[in-house]
Amino acid sequence: MTTHGKTIPQDEPVVVVIGSGAGGGTIAHELATQGVKVVVLEAGPYLTADDYTNDEWPAFNQMAWLDMRTTSGSYRVARDFPNLPAWIVKAVGGTTTHWAGATPRFMAHEFAARSTYGEVEGANLLDWPITLEEMEPWYDRAEKAMGSSHRHGRPPMPANNNYKVFANGAERAGYKYYATGPYATNAEPYDGRPATVQDGFNFQGDKSGAKWSTLVREIPRALESGNAELRPLSQAVRITHGSDGRVDAVEYLDSDGNLHRQAARAVCVAGNSIETPRLLLMSDSPSHPDGLANSSDQVGRNYMRHLTGSAYARFEQPVRMYRGETMAGIIADEAVYDPSRGFVGGYYMETLSLGPAFLASFVEPGSWGREFTRLMDAYAHTAGMWLVGEDMPQESNRITLDPDVKDQWGLPAPHVHFDDHPNDIAMRRHAYRAADSIYRAAGALGVHHTPPYPATHNLGSCRMAADPADGPLNGWGQAHDVPNLFVSDGSVMTTGGAANPTLTIVALAMRQADHLRELLRTGEL
Ligand SMILES: Cc1cc2nc3c(=O)[nH]c(=O)nc-3n(C[C@H](O)[C@H](O)[C@H](O)COP(=O)(O)OP(=O)(O)OC[C@H]3O[C@@H](n4cnc5c(N)ncnc54)[C@H](O)[C@@H]3O)c2cc1C
Repeated sequence: MTTHGKTIPQDEPVVVVIGSGAGGGTIAHELATQGVKVVVLEAGPYLTADDYTNDEWPAFNQMAWLDMRTTSGSYRVARDFPNLPAWIVKAVGGTTTHWAGATPRFMAHEFAARSTYGEVEGANLLDWPITLEEMEPWYDRAEKAMGSSHRHGRPPMPANNNYKVFANGAERAGYKYYATGPYATNAEPYDGRPATVQDGFNFQGDKSGAKWSTLVREIPRALESGNAELRPLSQAVRITHGSDGRVDAVEYLDSDGNLHRQAARAVCVAGNSIETPRLLLMSDSPSHPDGLANSSDQVGRNYMRHLTGSAYARFEQPVRMYRGETMAGIIADEAVYDPSRGFVGGYYMETLSLGPAFLASFVEPGSWGREFTRLMDAYAHTAGMWLVGEDMPQESNRITLDPDVKDQWGLPAPHVHFDDHPNDIAMRRHAYRAADSIYRAAGALGVHHTPPYPATHNLGSCRMAADPADGPLNGWGQAHDVPNLFVSDGSVMTTGGAANPTLTIVALAMRQADHLRELLRTGEL
């Protein structure tokens, strides 16, 4: 097994970070660069820019988490993509290697969803144990680390054609708050990385390094610190604990299926919102019969995926949406809280371009014939946008261990159950209408509504809650039941907000690292 960085003995109790994506890569960096020894276990391979291919399906097959998953529920994804509920990367850098780069912040009321929205039938709403005010310094730090455009004096991204159509329609439709960012890709050289060449292939892994990811920033710096060892192709399969109730080791499989054990002083789980609860559920024991840190029975529940949907509009003139940054365009007007629209929470509209191969797969899954051909024929004349908003946490939307289906290691596959909440459906209808009004105002010949595809924003499932009965984690992402167990990824989100989540995941992981370092310094851990 090839490892990277400092060699740390398996019997030395260190902080073990599981996963190297937005949350895991960030916490490993924050700890290692400030003197804390860390072992990072990453299930996927260590791929770098040279390995990437600018070809959608080969790139997807190279990096996506394709281990067996099952899904159910009334949402369309269960029918269209039965074994692919989510689009998550299995490689060093996690899904930040495929992400686009949009970095809006959550708004104050989104941290207080239960108090603001009140009782919403069927929704398991809760206020976060943190406020925006507490988060602001961490947002500042995260934006500087990620190099968000439009922030801290950094210039905006240039407008591509897809954005020009989008902004033109927004202006004519009466929207006021639109821009090409914030977006965590360099408009000009920053932090040792070059400016974007507007290649438009960032979903496939960024060959130039202009886009922030933990692969290009946090992981190399953690390794350079001399305090971190990265073990790729190492999948954590169980977290064990001692009789004192504290976790003491992580068991993991290498690529040949050999079992290893890394002693742990503390464990930070950051496997994304399906693998994180799966690992806790697989780590049951006589004192944690329903899964580790699950006395609340909330591990795996309240899984959110954001309200999504896309609109593709056909124009007389060519648009060539694929040129330039994939998602550098955002309209924020509908993100506000305004229940007079018939739903709580809000949504953003963001430019989105897919290549022809992905468009053919996602634009109307399973369809064929004249209408489908017309959509594809119009590719060069098409503009696209993504609709992304706050979906309601529901207890029954949950990750469980499939009792029948196993993965390649013989471990229970995760099962994802999801139903849209009526609030999500009302919001999506409103968002499609808004997209229509924008594109019609810009002169579209027709607008096609594309249904949600496998979730790129996977949230909740191990939520932070002030009361241990409401969620497994406290406001630091620390397990209520197990003091030296932390969750450091998107699973911690109490509610989902409307904003793309990665900036918040990074800011929360930085904040958690600060707390964890303090607990280590004072000897509490
Ligand atoms: C195409 C696409 C575009 C996106 N665009 C945006 C955007 O513009 N803005 C935005 O905010 N977000 C975007 N996202 C979402 C963003 O990438 C995720 O929100 C973010 O990466 C989640 O961080 P995480 O730490 O929760 O998990 P990840 O980044 O997914 O990292 C999890 C890591 O854990 C590893 N892992 C899992 N289980 C184990 C295990 N048992 N043992 C060892 N390792 C394990 C995985 O292999 C993976 O590397 C996008 C996502 C996709 C797919």
